[in-house]
Amino acid sequence: MPPAGRELEVQVLGAAQSASPAVRRSALDRLFTGGCVLGDGAMATMLLDRGASIDTCCEELNLRQPEAIAAVHAAYLQAGAEIIETNTFGANAYRLERCGLRSKVREINLAAVRIARHCVIRAAGAQIAGAIGPLGMRIQPHGEVSCIAARSAFADQVHALAEGGPGVGADLLILETMMSVAEATEAIAAARDAAPWLRLVVMMTVDENGDCLDGSSAQRAAARLTDLGADAIGCNCSYGPTSVLRAIERMRAATPLPLAAMPNAGMPFSVEGRSNYPISPVEMAAFARSCLQAGVTLIGGCCGTTPDHIRAIKSVLQESAPQESG
Ligand SMILES: [Zn+2]
Repeated sequence: MPPAGRELEVQVLGAAQSASPAVRRSALDRLFTGGCVLGDGAMATMLLDRGASIDTCCEELNLRQPEAIAAVHAAYLQAGAEIIETNTFGANAYRLERCGLRSKVREINLAAVRIARHCVIRAAGAQIAGAIGPLGMRIQPHGEVSCIAARSAFADQVHALAEGGPGVGADLLILETMMSVAEATEAIAAARDAAPWLRLVVMMTVDENGDCLDGSSAQRAAARLTDLGADAIGCNCSYGPTSVLRAIERMRAATPLPLAAMPNAGMPFSVEGRSNYPISPVEMAAFARSCLQAGVTLIGGCCGTTPDHIRAIKSVLQESAPQESG
């Protein structure tokens, strides 16, 4: 059970104080009306940095250590994130099965939304994206999982993330680190069917050249995701900011939709058994400037990024934002 009020409350108070008036104007509205919105950064690498063991099932912590998840959300909200992602990247039946938790898909996703909701309520209008990652299995014709089974697994996760409807469940959905357009197709269909009222951001992950991992070009993926009914598309994780920017610039030419960019902090290298990521907050700020020039409207980070990276992006968005009143 997540701790009732008090412990979470203490952690999120600072976040409430740092929220800007612009946040209260609804990040989601601005995302879809040409504004630029700040997402959050990594969850799993933050938990590892804070002492979680490498074999921990991060999503199980929604049940066992909700205060640890809330603390990461609070750190991102304090850094200025306007949309935070639930700790549910791997909370689908196939990935949870590896930790013996297949039967807890609903419980784990519900807990994640509850923790995030608790944090944003005190953060003056920031919003919650239900995070959905790949199943971790190859689907037919390249693997053993049928398209129907894949769609059903995504639908189970979406139902739980959306449960309770507006203001209770997630405010939007982010499908991320999608490695194949075929899998994204099933995930989009599941999301549209299970929670048609939720806006849907779909991000592919790409190789160093900016091509999708199933061999599709970024342009082709963008056109397909647009046809499938995504509300915004983009690229996350990948090989760091340069690869993501390469893909985003190609996607821009192939879609009229808002673009999202959330790279990892470069490829990790190990020092004394710890993963280090090479991209600094200053480099992330440079990336954010390039994103603005490329027309990106949702910017955040993935593996290895921290509240300092998000703060650096925020400073760029503040420099470029038209002054808002109220
Ligand atoms: Zn990542």
